[in-house]
Formats: sequence, C-alpha cells, structure tokens
Amino acid sequence: MNMLQTDIKFIPGVGPKRAEILNKELDLFTLGDLLRWYPYRYIDRTRIYYVHEIDNSMAYIQLKGKITAFETFGEGRRKRLVAHFTDGTGFIDLIWFQGVRFIESKYKLNQEYIIFGKPALFNGKWNIAHPEIDPFMDESDRPGGLMAMYNTTEKMKNHYINSRVMHKIIENAFGMVSERLPESLSPDVVKQAGLISFHDAVENIHFPKTPHLLRDAEFRLKFEELFFIQLNIVRYASERKLKLNGFIFREVGKNLHTFYKKHLPFELTNAQKRVIREIRKDTATGKQMNRLLQGDVGSGKTLVAIMCMLIALDNGFQSCLMAPTEILASQHFETFCQMLSEMDLKVALLTGSTKKKERGVIHAELLSGEIDILIGTHALLEDVVRFRNLGFVVIDEQHRFGVVQRARLWEKNNQPPHVLVMTATPIPRTLAMTVYGDLDVSVIDELPPGRKPVQTVHRYDKKRGALYQFLREQIQQGRQIYIVYPLIEESETLDLKNLEEGYEHIKEAFPGFTVCKMHGRMKPAEKEEVMRQFVANEAEIMVSTTVIEVGVNVPNASVMVIESAQRFGLSQLHQLRGRVGRGADQSFCVLITPYELSSDTRKRIEIMTETNDGFVIAEADLKLRGPGDLEGTQQSGVPFNLRLADLVRDNAILFRAREIAEELIEKDPKLEQPGHQILRQQLSRLSGNRYEWGRIS
Ligand code: ADP
Ligand code: MG
Repeated sequence: MNMLQTDIKFIPGVGPKRAEILNKELDLFTLGDLLRWYPYRYIDRTRIYYVHEIDNSMAYIQLKGKITAFETFGEGRRKRLVAHFTDGTGFIDLIWFQGVRFIESKYKLNQEYIIFGKPALFNGKWNIAHPEIDPFMDESDRPGGLMAMYNTTEKMKNHYINSRVMHKIIENAFGMVSERLPESLSPDVVKQAGLISFHDAVENIHFPKTPHLLRDAEFRLKFEELFFIQLNIVRYASERKLKLNGFIFREVGKNLHTFYKKHLPFELTNAQKRVIREIRKDTATGKQMNRLLQGDVGSGKTLVAIMCMLIALDNGFQSCLMAPTEILASQHFETFCQMLSEMDLKVALLTGSTKKKERGVIHAELLSGEIDILIGTHALLEDVVRFRNLGFVVIDEQHRFGVVQRARLWEKNNQPPHVLVMTATPIPRTLAMTVYGDLDVSVIDELPPGRKPVQTVHRYDKKRGALYQFLREQIQQGRQIYIVYPLIEESETLDLKNLEEGYEHIKEAFPGFTVCKMHGRMKPAEKEEVMRQFVANEAEIMVSTTVIEVGVNVPNASVMVIESAQRFGLSQLHQLRGRVGRGADQSFCVLITPYELSSDTRKRIEIMTETNDGFVIAEADLKLRGPGDLEGTQQSGVPFNLRLADLVRDNAILFRAREIAEELIEKDPKLEQPGHQILRQQLSRLSGNRYEWGRIS
C-alpha cells in the first residue's frame, strides 16, 4: 500500500521541522515507520489517585482537583512556574520550566482539572513537572482505558514532542490509512500461530481497546519479530545443508594414533571423548560441519581441537586456529608445539606482529602445503592468506563471530572447511538459537579429574588486612596472584590512574615480592613480556586491567582478586574467575566491593559466591542485564532490531516461532510458493543493506 510510504512531514501535527527531528532522532521517515514505532508501556487511565496516596512506587498517575494559586520563581532562563494543586486530601506542586506565560493564562484557579504526570519528591515535597492538564469531564467523555507511552529523546522534548504528542501524531497517521493494513506474514503462518491480523495488531498496540486485545496485539508483533529472525537462520542453515558439500575425513590415521598412543599426556575425559566422536561423525558425512563447542574454562577444549586437526591431517588437509588476541594465539602456539613436538608435522604462528619477511615465508608455505597447522589472530582472515587445502577451522573464545564472518573463512577454499567455534562463555539457549541458530552444539560438561572448584568469597574494600595476610600465605606456599582492576572505556585515563595507584599500593603492601603490571595501553610486545614473566613465575603478583585473556593458562596462579567487582557484569566476573583453578591446588576468587551496593549488584555477587556453573551464570546474566548488553549480541548478532520482543521473557514465543519457521522451510526451502512471497519481501526489507543473501548462501 503506497500510503505507508507517505513522508511523515505530511501527517497532521508533524510538518517539515518535526519531520526532520523524527528522521534524525528516531530514524522514522514514512507513515509505515511511524506505525511501527511501538509504545514502551501503558498507563491505566481509568484510575484516579488521591494526593495522600502518593508514594515512591508510583510512575504516572492521574489526580483530580483544583489549582489554588500560581507562583513564579527565578528569573530569565531559570524562571519556573509553580501551581499549588489540591484534591482535598493533600497538596502537590505542579511545576513548569518552559511556556510559563502560556500555562498561567490557560489554566484557571479553582476549576476542576484532571492532571496526569509522574510524581517526584523534592526537598520533602511532592511535585509533578510538566503535567498534562485536562478539564474534568463526565466519566463517559474522559479518555479512559490504557494509554500508550512512547519513548522520546531530549531533542524531541525541546521541540515539544513528548509522549502525548507522539500518541496524537500516530493517531493522525492511523487516521490517514483508508484501507486495512496489508499483512506482513503469510496466511498459513498467521493461522498456525493463531495471530490476529497485522491491522488489528497495529491498531491495538497504539490504541488498545481492551487489555485482552492489547495482549493479542503484543503477541502478534513479538511473534513476528522473532519469527523473521528464526526464518532467516533456518533458511540459511537449510540452504547451506543443501548446497555445501563438506570434505570427507575417512581415515583416522597415523597422526592421531601416534599422538593418542604415545604423546597424550593424560586420559581424555568422557566429555572430551564424546565431543571428538560427535565431530568425527560430522566430518565423515560429506556435509560441511558448523559446530559450537561450549565448555567451561579449563575443560580442555584445546585438546579436542588438536585431536581433530590431527584427523584432518590424516586425511591430507591443513587446519587453522584463530584466537581473538595475540597473547592467546601465542599461548596456543606454544601448547601445540609442546604437545606435538615429537610428531612429524609443522605448526606456524601468524599474528599482526609477525615480521614481514616471516610473513612472506608463511604465506608461501601455506600455499605449498608445507605448514600443516596455522595458529593466529584475525590476521588469518586477510585475503593474502591462502591455503593449499584448508579442511578444518577452529575459532577460539570468540562469540563475536557471526554467520557473516564465518563465511569469510570459507572463501579461502573452493569448498568450505569444517568449522568448530569454541567458547567458554556459555550461551543461554534462547540466545544461541538467535545468534548461532545455524550451528550444531557440543558441550564439555566435565572438568579433567583432580580439579577443585574455585572458592569464591565477597569482601568489603575497607577490610583489607585479613585479605592481604591470606594472600601472603598463598604466595609463601608458592602460589601466584592476579589482582584485576575494572576498565571502563569512557574514562581510560581514570582507570589507568586506579591501576597505577593500585599497583603502587600493592608494591608497598607486599614488600619483598615481585609485582608486575599490565594494561591495554601497553604495546603488544610489552604485554607479551609481562605475561611471559608471570607465566615463568618470575613475579608473584600480577596487577592488571581485564586484558588478561580468557584462556591464558597459568596453572600456578591460584588467587584472583577482583577490585571494584560491582563494576563488572556476571559473565565477565565468571570469565575472570576462570583464569585461576587450572592447577591441582585449591584456588580462590575474592570479589571486593564497597559497602553500598544496589540490589542487582548484590544479586550478582551472591550468584558468584554460590555457583561455579557457567550455564547458571549465563542465564542469570541474561535475566539481570537483558540480552542487549551481552557481549557479542550487537556485532554478531541478532540480525534485526527487536522492538517489542525480549529474548528472555518471550522465550516461549521464540520457541514457537522457531518451530513454525522450521516446518515452513522444510515444506518450501526457498520460499517460492506464492503465499510465501510476502515472507521473502519482509526478510529483505528487514535486512536492508546489512545482509546480503547472495554472499552468504
Ligand atoms: P579450555 O577449555 O579453557 O580452553 P584448556 O584446553 O586450556 O581449557 O585446558 C586446560 C588445562 O587442562 C590445560 O592445561 C590442559 O592441558 C589440561 N587438560 C586438558 N584435558 C585434560 C585431561 N583430559 N586431563 C587432564 N588435564 C587436561
Ligand atoms: Mg581455551
């Protein structure tokens, strides 16, 4: 319907000036955009409160009463108007900072008004700033029921576009729509999911006729958001399965056998064996493997990767492993060299700081097939890096890696290699379905024997005496200690100051011990050197920001002290904790905070002290913070914006959407049936320029 393409400036109440603001602030350009600008909540306008009832728990309320007097305070730009308002049960101040003269002339004293706004306490008195005021009317004439509230920005408010104005504009927009709004889903999906029409949903999301219809409208629109994400993923996965042939690893040959029999330093855990079997099975089918391997820190994922690469090698293929940082890549390189030292194969390391000359040699040896296993950072993705026959790719500790980036690795061959993504950050199922919905998942849910779970305690920052004594004892027993300071990007300088001060303080508190320090501003080579020093046990204490990477392995480090723990998210705390507990000794994690903590923070700290289970922590994290904050969702992520749906709260809808998407793609993999045309259109509308079908599938 062309009407939906109407420029918003033609909608009554908008005009060119406001249109420009809505373009800039909310990215709204057409009438259709405006109709999809959903409210963020609703206010029950059937209820009128009394002034004496007002308490802290209230958001927006209605009061009925009279203005007894106006008073102005201040001068010029500071000028404000106060109206004393009463309903007979108490007084409240109505305050305006703008439009003073207009307000004073518009509202009369001692006349009955309905006012609407959010009460706030200032200097022990209740007030409502910039309330809405309407003359009191009979029950029947008053706007009743649920009133939609819209998010507005500071800029919008400066131009008098508040929630109420938005409501009015959307009402006008809806009024311009002469026919019923066209469906955005195919009829079979609407029917199967039991949805109300798009038209009714849009109408009721903005102007709910009844709470029941509002629920139906929300369900319909949330379903739609989640459905298109799932349809996108399911369709993509199915095309991949149809199209992409994977290399077949027929043999388990000499390399794996030799390693397994002669060089494997320990028994594999049952979980490791199971995962290797799963990967074996995948790589033998002739389909291309895309597998996510989740396993808590220290569960032995690297070994799984090594063994799979040996299988690839037995079948004549090269492998590569990509890590998110240089330190991690170097450590992997060392581990590989050490574990595979007796074997007849060549491992190389390629990172951003590999010298140009060496780089050239590596490039050549990759092409000739001289190098069997390449380890590196993002440098691997560069176009110049070409392999003779890359068969197996491992991506470590990297959940920022979405579908698109993975596709780049495939381009290194005519035929895509098998891909294993490894992560110690457990991804809750709902999120995994959304971000990694096209991957099969393996889990290592068992730590190698002999590991003791890390003991986590909470300490207040004013009480360091006992803690330091404890740290000294640990060091005297030969252990090493991490002390981590938070890093917040906005104030890097301040954080560095914290770190410097902390470093000086620790040096003073621990005379006779070597304290090293590391932060993000240091050059890679400097960081490397500090890390080497610590790994080699040349320093007992490492003071650092969060730069110590997940996966860096110092088995002798047994205590992780986290300063200002309140400033970290749960997953981050858990990851930091994972850097200890890698040896046979009892390890500890100490969370330091001030006395005053918000209830959310208290909850986070409590969860940390109660459990070591990464999945429990990930779920709790998703609940406390919401998926928007989870590392990785932005970049890799949820391909389309979620306006209404919430991955946690609405997971039942998500699962249903997934089911329906799967059935649909099974019946019509390319969405070619006439009824499904609309789904294809919606997918391309939603993905805009961001997703290129051709390139991915
Ligand atoms: P992560 O899963 O965090 O990457 P790593 O692969 O770094 O864990 O393994 C952690 C440590 O456990 C390493 O020192 C590794 O050699 C050791 N390890 C791995 N598998 C086993 C096993 N089956 N038995 C004993 N130790 C193991
Ligand atoms: Mg690891």
